Amino acid sequence: MQKIVRTITLAYNNLPRPHRVMLGSLTVVTLAVAVWRPSVYHPEHNPIVKSVELEANQLRVLQPEASEPIDADQPTPDDDIPEDELDQKVAGEEGVHEYVVSTGDTLGSILTQYGIEMSDVSLLASQNRDLRNLKIGQQLSWTLTEDGDLKRLTWEVSRRETRTYDRVGNTFKETKETQKGEWRNSVLTGQLNGSFVSSASAAGLNRAEINAVIKALQWQLDFRKLRKGDQFAVLMSREEFDGKSEQSQLLGVRMRSSGKDYFAIRADDGKFYDRQGSGLARGFMRFPTMKQFRISSNFNPRRVNPVTGRIAPHKGVDFAMPVGTPVLAVGDGEVVIAKRSGAAGNYVAIRHGRQYTTRYMHLKKLLVKPGQKVKRGDRIALSGNTGRSTGPHLHYELWTNQQAVNPLTAKLPRSEGLMGKDRSDYLAQVKEVVPQLQLD
Ligand SMILES: [Zn+2]
Repeated sequence: MQKIVRTITLAYNNLPRPHRVMLGSLTVVTLAVAVWRPSVYHPEHNPIVKSVELEANQLRVLQPEASEPIDADQPTPDDDIPEDELDQKVAGEEGVHEYVVSTGDTLGSILTQYGIEMSDVSLLASQNRDLRNLKIGQQLSWTLTEDGDLKRLTWEVSRRETRTYDRVGNTFKETKETQKGEWRNSVLTGQLNGSFVSSASAAGLNRAEINAVIKALQWQLDFRKLRKGDQFAVLMSREEFDGKSEQSQLLGVRMRSSGKDYFAIRADDGKFYDRQGSGLARGFMRFPTMKQFRISSNFNPRRVNPVTGRIAPHKGVDFAMPVGTPVLAVGDGEVVIAKRSGAAGNYVAIRHGRQYTTRYMHLKKLLVKPGQKVKRGDRIALSGNTGRSTGPHLHYELWTNQQAVNPLTAKLPRSEGLMGKDRSDYLAQVKEVVPQLQLD
């Protein structure tokens, strides 16, 4: 029986597209007749009933339940979120994804949340066993091939050592690089005159350094609201070699805006905290609803359209839920989109700090407006079945640094501060760093 189905599938896939569409429609009609008139068949005709079951499976693949039709393109264009000058700085180099290792991370948990296949991770880790011992605070960055496979991974083992893994055929080739420069600290100060980006650049910070400052202060300050005359001081550790600056690390920043001081100081875990060692981000909720609903379709950046064979990524998670279920903002932020948009139906996008964006689609009713500030847990909409949708559901996306990640497994911003020895080490560091952050 399986063999017959396979043969039919093969024959089906070899047909030109209009024929397949026609054949598909015929199958639907045939099945509908079979389902509506079960009494036509006698009990001894069991084989016919069985073949209907299998076809029903195939139909489910073509038309997922409480999701989007797979033959549809991505519900919304990626450039839908309005960008500002800061975005380009935060995004960093195009196509390069960056990640700072934190508690509980493994190479697999980090890369798979970005949709990289476990087979790539296993290949990499089996050839390069050191990668199994990632340490908190180390930075990983990587690029992907057009198909979404891992192309290159860079691991900053320490300030002195960087290892790079390049895909060569079916293996990854490792290159080790040792830095020879001298690390020196320098304080850069400036005043707002025009945008923060241009002011920081005038004060001598390069693009990557400006990017680091914006990220460090993203939960405390809206950089677009800074005013002329606001002051800043930045402590950078820079590696210099042959009189040139090779790379740098932000150690601390102070911003005085409208008479108030904001600080962010780097801890050994690579994250930034305030002067008391408290976390700066408010945590995110994992689910955008009060209770957890059944997942009708998972995050899958390489989902294949069974008919065309082309990649039709599913950039979010679908939760099947009754129309009218309250949809909640997963974190504090600002509504950047709230509108009706073709395939996405009624749609809300929220920006959280500079790195995170969340999107909520197929809504029945919008409860927020663009520009509105929201808090974690605020009701932003009622769920629905609008746009291209095959049943009542919520399509939910989480983006970090302009890339869709798996909302069920992605590391979310956490609000916890430092504890115990980590905290006392940090406070000692604060005592050294803060006095250096003198404003002009
Ligand atoms: Zn979806």
